[in-house]
Amino acid sequence: MKNIVVGAGISGAVVANLLAEKLSEEITVLEQRVHIAGNCFDYKEDGITVQKYGAHIFHTDNIEVWKFLRRYTDFNQYMHKVVAVIDGIHTTIPFSIPSIYSTFPPSLAQKLERKLLEKYTYGSKVPISDFLQQDDEDLRFLANFVYDKIFKDYTAKQWGVKVSELSSKVSSRVPVNISMDQRYFTDKYQGIPVNGYTEMIQRILDHKLISVKLNSCFSGDLKSELLKDSQKGLVRIFYTGSIDELLDYKYGVLPYRSLKFEFSKVNRDFYQENSVVNYPCNYDFTRIHEFKYFLSEQTPSTIIAKEYPIEYKLGENERYYPIDNHSNNSLYQRYKEHLQATFTNVFVLGRLGDYHYYDMDDSVEKALNLIHSI
Ligand SMILES: Cc1cc2nc3c(=O)[nH]c(=O)nc-3n(C[C@H](O)[C@H](O)[C@H](O)COP(=O)(O)OP(=O)(O)OC[C@H]3O[C@@H](n4cnc5c(N)ncnc54)[C@H](O)[C@@H]3O)c2cc1C
Repeated sequence: MKNIVVGAGISGAVVANLLAEKLSEEITVLEQRVHIAGNCFDYKEDGITVQKYGAHIFHTDNIEVWKFLRRYTDFNQYMHKVVAVIDGIHTTIPFSIPSIYSTFPPSLAQKLERKLLEKYTYGSKVPISDFLQQDDEDLRFLANFVYDKIFKDYTAKQWGVKVSELSSKVSSRVPVNISMDQRYFTDKYQGIPVNGYTEMIQRILDHKLISVKLNSCFSGDLKSELLKDSQKGLVRIFYTGSIDELLDYKYGVLPYRSLKFEFSKVNRDFYQENSVVNYPCNYDFTRIHEFKYFLSEQTPSTIIAKEYPIEYKLGENERYYPIDNHSNNSLYQRYKEHLQATFTNVFVLGRLGDYHYYDMDDSVEKALNLIHSI
């Protein structure tokens, strides 16, 4: 049987690799872009590994995923933290005890720290809704500060919604870490591939049974022929694109949120104090990435990207984040049911195929599970 994998992102690459190992059948990977690696794609410029689709930090608690990827790359020991600029004050998020000290005057910070440690277990993550229920004006002040300065405007910018439309259910889940740990991720395994994500994915795809065709969109006559062949049992299709596109937008366009990255070279060694600096309540952009931090690259100049969330427009920009709400999930489900009723040898996966935000480790895990199941 022939195997077609649509998309050479991390999901498609892992599926192609596992198929080659498991079935010893030929696999053709079709990728519409001019490069592999999907949104994890990085490239070298002026000695800096630039991540074209925004900062990507690998993190996982899944030992199988970690072992799989370690066959193709070593990771450095980068542990991510996010600096946030709140009305000119530089602190870290999620809010933790050090964030309290860098944001508030020492007397207030000490008072808040004492109250938090008296009330909650060290190391716990407490949602701000819990502080709001306490009969304590300082804890309520902290909850309101986190909501106003970190959550509210950032979420409105990120999702393009009015502040008044934000659900209080979601906002109240915003946690404060009762801890000195300022890391953004707490997974056991974390890091950046030492030679970048593109090389890691190149190595995953490097198998005598796998051929990769770039600049090859799965559409038009090619798509019709291959779908017909899949129904005759001649070909299996593993599709990591968006399911609405696969089914010709039969039920309408699935909504996404898109991003615009504004790249610039800056003629000094560093632009900012951290790889990612968030601007939750100021400016139109949400964050600034400075890529040389990830692999500790020593260069005289630097490259940054400002990230602006924008509306997704079909054919005009990229799909980044699925918008998780009831009506979109129902629309996705309709497509999925149609697919399952019509095709037997077509499998959808990945962040676009499943219409679900996945971190890279989730994508690898889903691909491993899919291939184990067939
Ligand atoms: C801004 C941002 C930051 C992120 N940061 C992190 C992070 O720090 N850590 C983390 O773990 N994860 C992060 N992620 C998530 C990560 O990007 C995804 O987990 C990963 O890219 C999913 O891989 P994928 O292969 O499923 O999808 P993609 O990477 O999107 O790959 C799909 C590929 O399919 C191709 N394709 C689609 N349709 C067709 C077609 N019809 N024909 C041919 N080719 C097609 C696309 O061109 C694309 O190359 C981030 C995501 C975003 C948006």
